[in-house]
Parts: sequence; structure tokens; C-alpha cells
Amino acid sequence: PDVPVSAILLGAARRYGDRPAFARGAETLTFADLARQAARFAGGLAVAPGDRVALVMPNCLEYPVAYYGTLLAGATFVPVNPLLPQGAREKQLADADAARVVTAADVAALAAAEPGELPEVDTGTLAHLAYTGGTTGESKGVALPHRNVVTNSLQYTCWSTGSLPALDDHGGLVLDQVGAPEEWPVRLGESVVINLTPWFHAMGTIAGLNALLLMGTTTWLHDRLDPGAYLADAERLRITSIGGAPALYAALLTHPDIHTRDLTSVRLLASGAAPLPVEMIERLLDLFPNAVIAEGYGLTEVTMGATLSPAHRSGTRKVGSVGVPLFDTEVRVVDGDGLDPVPAGERGEVCLRGPQVMTGYHNRPEATAEVLTDGWLRTGDIGVLDDDGYLSIVDRKKDMLLYKGYNVYPRELEELLAAHPGVAAAAVVGRPDQAVGELPVAFVVPSGPDLTEDALMASINAQVVAYKRLREVRFVDQIPISAAGKVLKRELRTRFAS
Ligand code: ATP
Repeated sequence: PDVPVSAILLGAARRYGDRPAFARGAETLTFADLARQAARFAGGLAVAPGDRVALVMPNCLEYPVAYYGTLLAGATFVPVNPLLPQGAREKQLADADAARVVTAADVAALAAAEPGELPEVDTGTLAHLAYTGGTTGESKGVALPHRNVVTNSLQYTCWSTGSLPALDDHGGLVLDQVGAPEEWPVRLGESVVINLTPWFHAMGTIAGLNALLLMGTTTWLHDRLDPGAYLADAERLRITSIGGAPALYAALLTHPDIHTRDLTSVRLLASGAAPLPVEMIERLLDLFPNAVIAEGYGLTEVTMGATLSPAHRSGTRKVGSVGVPLFDTEVRVVDGDGLDPVPAGERGEVCLRGPQVMTGYHNRPEATAEVLTDGWLRTGDIGVLDDDGYLSIVDRKKDMLLYKGYNVYPRELEELLAAHPGVAAAAVVGRPDQAVGELPVAFVVPSGPDLTEDALMASINAQVVAYKRLREVRFVDQIPISAAGKVLKRELRTRFAS
């Protein structure tokens, strides 16, 4: 349906009205409360349609009120990471030309207003001006109209719940499950999750807000990742799914309580944002006996997602793959700078086309022209499609190393490191070398005191051909991870300079 994002809120408020949508400690916000407060916030905001409203706040009960309120007012939502250093934040606010900056403390006063007359919102107008994570370079503003946000939220939820979208009598957007609910990991109106995915990131706003409203999910907020508290609440609240970046799963897997808590209520483990090591998938399947693991792949430039593993109980999930294209989405793996596809099984750059692809980068026509051609988006990721159309992400083009003209993909070495029992976390980057180009170096957090750097290096190098061998292993206390759960490789590379 061609409706604005607010239709998701209206549909959820009517269908799931008194059910808690969000909860934090003893405080709850029902779907109906959320819709009422968001309408008041839209009135209190007093902005003109098209104005940009920056929300600078951590995940909190005020966030969804401000998010939906901004969209109800016809304004554009600009998510800003509240932990950004001041300079970077000012730069983002200026780039977005924000008319209003709203923090959590402002929300209560704004939501005390009388709901005003709400504007008609055209689905082609900007809903989100979302900044890329800035993992590989400077973060760029991505222009996403209402149509993209609604479509991507539906692509993701319909695929993982076996549902079709419909409009209710009041123009609210709702889902209707078409198959038998027990065959799907998420049952509409019955799911419960603990949220840790930041709402200022693509995965947060689509999978962590809009999708959860469409599914009638109750979301419990935790202020920070505390694996022991998470596992205790997972058991107590009988959560039905877990969603997040691999860093969340890595933290849960290293906590001893994962072996003693009753986690049988969990039916879905959804992962995205970064590669989930194959070895971790096997351990998760052991520890969550009733869950399926669905890996998704996407980027801010496609609103959130482009592919997802089949979630249906009898669907084929291939370990190490990020699944198949979502509805209406085309995936192509190409060679060189053109759009000619390579044969199945061969590596190339992943290109995506579909209704969720951005209209462009904000204020950056040249950067837009570099990545968008005929509706196809060049992702900068290297991938492989198999004969059945399942995509695997090999690595990011920018992270690939060139050693004497050979391509070395750090992810391949990271998979081997992750499978080593003495390794808790690892990342591989290239150290510049005048003679050969770049040398693979591993930064490793050891899981105990017994392993040495040399022994680990020997064990990995015994498993790879000569040109891929690690030239150095450095033990560190932690691997730097972005708020969205990605390894900050550029930060690791700066350590070579010192
Ligand atoms: P920037 O583009 O500014 O460096 P960023 O990469 O952090 O920032 P995002 O849009 O947050 O921007 O991240 C998208 C990237 O995340 C993808 O291009 C891809 O490299 C990676 N990614 C997402 N999902 C997966 C996945 N399931 N497996 C491997 N990589 C993934």
C-alpha cells in the first residue's frame, strides 16, 4: 500500500491498542498511548511539512513518541547518535539543515500540547534523512522517502511472518498472517523482545521500530548491553526473538548463564549489520533449541535491508549466507565498473535494485552518481550468488587487502580465528608494506591466558595458502566496535602509525 509511515502507527494502535508496545522497568507505553502521545508531540513540535527534525537521544520511551510525532507532523526525521563527539554532531546537524533538535528531555513538554490538525503526507516526501554508520569513511546523509520506509518495513515483516499487508477501515496499515502461525517464528501480537539496537541506525528504525509495530511486539528497553541481565530478562519475560548485530550474540555466548537460563521461548535469532561467524551460528543453534537463525544483509542506502534468510520453519537456511532477496528486490553480482553479472559462484560487487533503494545522498550529487545507475545501487560489498540465488557476503571492497597483486579477504581469516577455541574476538586489517602492498595482521582478544600470539599465528597459517598468511598477531583487550555493531577497522589501522 502507498501510505505514509504514520499508517503503521495507526494500524498498530487500533489492532493492538492496550498491549504494551514499549516497556522500561515499571513504566510501559501501550500502542494506543504511543499514538496519542505522538499526535500531541506533532502538535507541540510546530514545524512546517518538510522541515528536518533531528532526534538526538539514546533509546528511551520518548524516542518512539518523537519519531512517529515527527513523521505525523510531515517533517523529516534525522536520527543522530547522541554519543557522537560534539564536532561531528554539529557537522551532521548543519549538513541536514535541521530546523529543530529534540532531546529526550524535550519530549514530555512537546507531547503535552493539544493534537493539532495533521497534514496529509505525500509518500514521495522525505521520511528519513539517515546518516551511514561512517565505518569506512565519512558518514553520508541518505534520502529515504516514506514509500521506502514503509516498503522496507513490509518486505522484512512479511518475509519473516508469512503475512500480507492490508489497510484497515481507518487507513491503518496492518499485517495478516496467511499460513499457519506455528510455522513462523513470529506470531503477530504475541512477540516479546529486549531492544538494544540503536534507533538512530537503519536496523533500529526499520527492524526495531516499524517492523515491531507491524508485528504487535512488546519491546523491553535495556539501557546498555549487560549479558547477565539480558539473559535473566530473556528467561523472565519469555522473549520470543532476539535481533541484533553479531557483537550482541558474541557477548551472550561468552556469558556463563547462557548454559543455565531457560531460553526455549526464543523462536528467532535475527542478525545483521556485520558478518556472523559460521562457528557462532553452530553454537547458537545448540543453545537455542527452538530458534531459527535468520541473517539479513543491507545498508542505510537501501533503507535497511535487501536480503534475508527464509524464516519459515521448513525454509532452507544456508549457513554463511545472508539469504535471498526480499520481495521486489533484485540482487546482482557484477564484475568491474559495469553492471554485467558474473556467473553464479563467482565473486564480484553486490548491486541492488528495488523500491527500498535511496533516492540519493543528501547534498552530494557526485557521490550519488558514483553509486546509482539505472536504479541499481553499487554497495561496495563483495559477494557471491549461488545457483539457488542465495547471497554470501565475502567482504567489503574497502577492507580487501592487496598482497603482491593477490586479493586477500580479511573475513576468511577472521572466520578461521573465530573458530579457534582460544579466540574471543578478532579482526584482520592490512599493514601497508612498500615491497608487497599490504600484509594481513590480526588483532585478537584471547579468551584465556594459555594461548600465545605465535602459536595462534602458526595454527591459522597452517590452514591457508601462502599469500594469505598472517604476518603478525597482536593480542588486545578489545576490538573497537561502532554503535551499530561494526568493527572499526580504520581505527585499528591507525595503530600501525604508532
Ligand atoms: P559507511 O558506509 O559510512 O562506512 P557503514 O558501512 O557503517 O558506514 P551502514 O549502512 O550502517 O554503513 O552499513 C552497511 C554495511 O554493513 C554493508 O555495506 C555491509 O558491508 C555491512 N553488512 C550489513 N549486513 C551484513 C551482513 N549480514 N554480513 C556482512 N556484512 C554486512
